Amino acid sequence: MYSVPRRQTRTVRVGQVTVGGASPVVVQSMTNTDTVDVVRTAIQCAELARAGSELVRITVNTPEAAAAVPAICAQLERMGVAVPLIGDFHYNGHRLLAAYPDCAQLLAKYRINPGNVGHGRKRDEQFAQMIELACQYQKPVRIGVNWGSLDQDLLARIMDDNARRPEPRDAVEVMREAMVASALESAVRAESLGMPGERIILSCKVSGVQDLIAIYRELSRRCDYPLHLGLTEAGMGSKGIVASTAAMAVLLQEGIGDTIRVSLTPEPGGKRTQEVIVAQEMLQTMGLRAFTPMVVACPGCGRTTSTFFQELAQSIQEHVRQRMPQWRADYDGVENMTLAVMGCVVNGPGESKHANIGISLPGTGEVPAAPVFEDGAKTVTLRGEHIAEEFTAIVDAYVARTYQRKFAG
Ligand code: SF4
Repeated sequence: MYSVPRRQTRTVRVGQVTVGGASPVVVQSMTNTDTVDVVRTAIQCAELARAGSELVRITVNTPEAAAAVPAICAQLERMGVAVPLIGDFHYNGHRLLAAYPDCAQLLAKYRINPGNVGHGRKRDEQFAQMIELACQYQKPVRIGVNWGSLDQDLLARIMDDNARRPEPRDAVEVMREAMVASALESAVRAESLGMPGERIILSCKVSGVQDLIAIYRELSRRCDYPLHLGLTEAGMGSKGIVASTAAMAVLLQEGIGDTIRVSLTPEPGGKRTQEVIVAQEMLQTMGLRAFTPMVVACPGCGRTTSTFFQELAQSIQEHVRQRMPQWRADYDGVENMTLAVMGCVVNGPGESKHANIGISLPGTGEVPAAPVFEDGAKTVTLRGEHIAEEFTAIVDAYVARTYQRKFAG
């Protein structure tokens, strides 16, 4: 693994998960089901957790949603899923947490958005009520600023201050400063109300890559609270993935970001778990954490005129993901395994030797033989119509032989 010194030294416990300090960057996600629908929400929480989400956030927006939280937790327990649930509150969190004590008790963390906790005098009162409830139930909070709901009074104050400067900053800088100030001032207020600093996580989400980088650098410089990192409203498909990665990778490389969420808009019929897979792949390809064996595959070119090698790369990747929950339970270190599926003899044997297991398929016009390499040495050459099945069996046998069995004996 590649080691990047973390910027924030403080840690916060969220259920059984530690966020911040030298702890690994935590992957989290959020459901998109109606929280009132207990079964669908519990199933999606379980899917996200099984995909590798270490924290799962659910919307708690109505009395019915708050009332559903205990049933969701009970359902998850019956399913054998122990992921900490975070409540996402806006506008009425102070009332819901007070009126539904089981909900307040069972959630592992409360997300508070200082921009829409209330207006004017009510904002301070309602923010204080939420913090007091978090103190009462000994829960951590995330003070989560979002530029779509930035505290307008605070923004106006910072704009006024800026106008009085000898050299006023431009509008972008003012917005960035308002985001950072909203998070930091809210954290100071929470501590003044009795919330221990060891229970505060901050975030300042925007949808622009350069804005996110600038804001988190400043936030990290000015506080030691663990930071929840994510590009908000990242979008759909490759655009959402690229924008999230472009922004977060820069910050993670600088040691900024203690828990991440990739806010992808699912494609119609797409799986919510994609945001978890993208977050894991981001951390794993950067060498910061290992979650699941990675498949290296060449892009293919004019030397591979069939689609066989693309299909094999895909089927191996899917096989590994599908087997991983059991492998993770049975074997130590299997997540570090690397596989190579290469299209021809040009780079195939070389890349295959660098992987734990690699296969070099025959390119156009080559002898129809596929040498397999295990730990750098050629072990077998596959031929015929069942190369995919045989290679998959070789991968399974390699895992069983190579990685130490947990709870052996
Ligand atoms: S390994 Fe072969 S098939 Fe793959 S990109 Fe390189 S030359 Fe093309």
